[in-house]
Amino acid sequence: MHRFSTIDEVRAWRRARFADGAPVALTPTMGALHAGHLAHITTLRERTDTVICSVFVNPTQFAPDEDFGTYPRTLDRDATLLREAGCTALFAPTADEMYRGDFSTSVIVSGVTEQFEGEHRPDHFRGVTTVVAKLLCIVQPDLVSFGQKDAQQLAVVRRMVDDLEIPTEVVPIPIVRDPDGLAMSSRNAFLSDADRAVGLMLRQALIAGREVWTGTRDRLRVEAVMSNVLRPTDRIDYATVVDADRFVHADRATESPLGVVAAVVGRVRLIDNLDFSDVDSP
Ligand code: AMP
Repeated sequence: MHRFSTIDEVRAWRRARFADGAPVALTPTMGALHAGHLAHITTLRERTDTVICSVFVNPTQFAPDEDFGTYPRTLDRDATLLREAGCTALFAPTADEMYRGDFSTSVIVSGVTEQFEGEHRPDHFRGVTTVVAKLLCIVQPDLVSFGQKDAQQLAVVRRMVDDLEIPTEVVPIPIVRDPDGLAMSSRNAFLSDADRAVGLMLRQALIAGREVWTGTRDRLRVEAVMSNVLRPTDRIDYATVVDADRFVHADRATESPLGVVAAVVGRVRLIDNLDFSDVDSP
């Protein structure tokens, strides 16, 4: 597996892939890789032999009071996992490489970014869309994967790729969960055993919410039931049902309703979601 830290190295590698005609797939990550990330590599490998994974803890998507400083960084272990998963190349730039002193450009997607994660993490999506646009320009991949775990991020990136006519197919990857049902996340490492038990309530809230939605299509009743299940958490940011493409509140006519929750447990902010259109979806 190649290991690149500069944009020039990636560009030279990409030029050779254009020359040999191999389709290239990209998985952008912040590292501290787990089985959820590796599922991206496995899925993309079904479409192409050439997969590049980026590992970059992007400072511009963290607010000053968030966990940029303590976010887990395990690059050598990540490289081993990626090699074992059949990844072709790893791109792990420094912040100085990605943002040179005079960097002045932002990519801002309106509408779909404005509520939920966008409301609770102001500027987060601007950081995400700017760095993703930059990665897409550097790698020029045919395919890029994004996880359904971060469902609003997936919707935002799809909007950006559509609006800017970026010639890359966005491949959604289903949420990978631990056997107890907790959605895998690099931040789960910071949960104590007791926190973890409370963290499981996000999924329980979603399952209870889906039952109410299926029976009533009444968003306010869904919110009441989910908030009740989530009472043991330390803070509920939101627990509701949205339109999965636009990230506005769902109504009775919404064709792709998605249950979404965000809550703080101990020192960790957790998010999860569940497809409410399919009563049997996992
Ligand atoms: P992150 O490193 O947290 O920025 O995540 C990198 C990519 O992996 C994003 O597209 C995430 O949505 C995705 N991802 C994170 N956790 C999971 C999971 N449990 N299952 C599937 N994909 C995930």
